[in-house]
Amino acid sequence: MPVKNRFAELLPEITEWRRDIHQNPELLFDLPRTAAKVAGLLRDFGCDEVVEGIAKTGVVGVIKGKTDTSGRVIGLRADMDALPIIEATGLDYASKTPGKMHACGHDGHTAMLLGAAKYLAETRNFDGTAVVLFQPAEEGGGGGRVMVEEGVLERFGIQEVYGMHNLPGIPLGTFAIRPGPMMAAADQFQVVVTGKGGHAAKPHEGVDTTLAAAHIVVALQQISSRNVDPLKQVVVSVCTFRTETEAHNVIPQTVFLRGTVRSLEAEVRDYVEGRFRAVVEGIAAAHGATTEIKYERGYPVTLNAPDNTGYAVDVAQAVSGRVDTTVAPLMGGEDFSYMLNARPGAYIFLGNGDTASLHNPAYNFDDNAIPFGASWFAGMIEARMPAA
Ligand SMILES: [Zn+2]
Ligand SMILES: [Zn+2]
Repeated sequence: MPVKNRFAELLPEITEWRRDIHQNPELLFDLPRTAAKVAGLLRDFGCDEVVEGIAKTGVVGVIKGKTDTSGRVIGLRADMDALPIIEATGLDYASKTPGKMHACGHDGHTAMLLGAAKYLAETRNFDGTAVVLFQPAEEGGGGGRVMVEEGVLERFGIQEVYGMHNLPGIPLGTFAIRPGPMMAAADQFQVVVTGKGGHAAKPHEGVDTTLAAAHIVVALQQISSRNVDPLKQVVVSVCTFRTETEAHNVIPQTVFLRGTVRSLEAEVRDYVEGRFRAVVEGIAAAHGATTEIKYERGYPVTLNAPDNTGYAVDVAQAVSGRVDTTVAPLMGGEDFSYMLNARPGAYIFLGNGDTASLHNPAYNFDDNAIPFGASWFAGMIEARMPAA
């Protein structure tokens, strides 16, 4: 595939961008350096339009094809933000900012999409318009949602969107994708359980909040094991259990619980929220305790449209010949989901080989994945808007 040859030539340059971004990680919406670098490069490439400041630090580049008889506009998206993790890779280009690290490979995603933009601006061998979208705050801030809310899809006339994430555990150069749910809806909850605190030697005079909360934690496990259809996927994890006192002889007045609920279908998502509330309130009531529930909907399900998944598979096949179309969905959340909710498109995994897992302090994006990922991004434009 010709695209791939060009990216083999560009690999040293793209690797340099990737390592520079890796060395200078920034968090959430606070990406002044990364965004400026991306915008500067897009201008150097000769993009027809470069817009900064979308969703605070998001950057958009517009590249027009040789012709535009199709009137089509395709969006490609990468994320730019790092994580609050202390890097333990020992790399010579490791993070210069202790406590911030590109541990999810967004440095690689940004570099690959920059590489694709450079190639597309050079060749323009397509009939329509390519829009490259660089978003902030994928790791919890919902930067993709904010870009959609600010109207980025309408403003640039984007009709389809494609995104990519590297994935450790999949061989380098192998792609993985499936139609339908690809990543989970990620909701979170906080519960304050209130009993009647008192002396630990006189439990009969109070309401043991710790015991009530412990029963709630156990009972919540029945949602996935007893309530939801066993053929559907759901995760309910209680991750924080905090009593208001650490004394050995005091029954606490309140216990604080916090955790996350993951699901892959809208109906399951609604059903689980209903069960969650019923279980928490019911178990608390059985103990004479009361509860205050804060249940927040996070990123929606990342849903691959069947037709667009097919297009993504075809391009991945042409790039490397290795595509796993039976990959299981991940129960992690992904805020590219907001773009896929608004436009048809697809989200694909690209193998990072046998490396430390995402969000691990020893993780590193493998630069040898760059020619595959950049070829796929560019290939999507050429395949969906073939030159007239
Ligand atoms: Zn991540
Ligand atoms: Zn990520």
